[in-house]
Amino acid sequence: MSPESPNSGKLYLVASPIGNLNDLSSRFTDVLAGVDLIACEDTRVTSKLMAHLGLNTPLVSYREENERSKSIELCQAMIEGKSIALLSDAGYPAISDPGFRLVRACHTHHLKVIPIPGPNAAITALAASGLPTHQFLFHGFLPKKKNGVLQILEKWKDFSGSLIFYESKYKIEKTLSLLESAYGPERFVCVARELTKVHETILSGALSKIRPLVAQRSTKGEFTLVVAPAGYSFEDAE
Ligand code: SAM
Repeated sequence: MSPESPNSGKLYLVASPIGNLNDLSSRFTDVLAGVDLIACEDTRVTSKLMAHLGLNTPLVSYREENERSKSIELCQAMIEGKSIALLSDAGYPAISDPGFRLVRACHTHHLKVIPIPGPNAAITALAASGLPTHQFLFHGFLPKKKNGVLQILEKWKDFSGSLIFYESKYKIEKTLSLLESAYGPERFVCVARELTKVHETILSGALSKIRPLVAQRSTKGEFTLVVAPAGYSFEDAE
């Protein structure tokens, strides 16, 4: 392992709020004010955050489509001494968002990576779910097609911890229906909607109870789905 050069810049991983601007930390602001450049998904989204904080650090677009070429460019800038903050539109960068390639490139080039803890929808939903937290598997987004979803569900059917999925408002009801056909109506789930926002809703219980509740309510907004291991229920829990 080669040591990092003292003259190189650093990469800061900075999580932005998943809905509530009050979740911004003072460290978040200090880092964004102190770096030379902010690499972010959508410069329009981050510009609003910067205006809110009264900051004018230069922004550069770093998104799925240009992740590979930008990672090389940004590493070069760090080798030349510039420090960079990596930001997503919401939540933790590199988690179902661009970032992994840049972090990997930093390690390859012995550039220091400094993670700043902050908001993440998966961990927030898991902690609030009442479902087992001692072991969990984060899957991110499920495939678009039904067969792909069923294959993934089959693969993790007997996993001994909770499963965490990101889901869109367009597919949440369909996914719950596939989940019920694959795992049965007794499987416990948590549907966490609009976490940290005005319409935050956290529904936890057996699929047979939660599915109709989701169908009755608005499915606008953002969803994270947590699925308990087989056999788990609130009644049997110690
Ligand atoms: N990097 C982000 C993180 O750390 O949470 C996740 C980005 S991923 C592109 C966006 C997905 O995260 C949404 O489609 C939704 O499934 C989930 N998500 C984001 N914000 C959420 C919120 N406030 N409530 C529930 N789920 C949310």
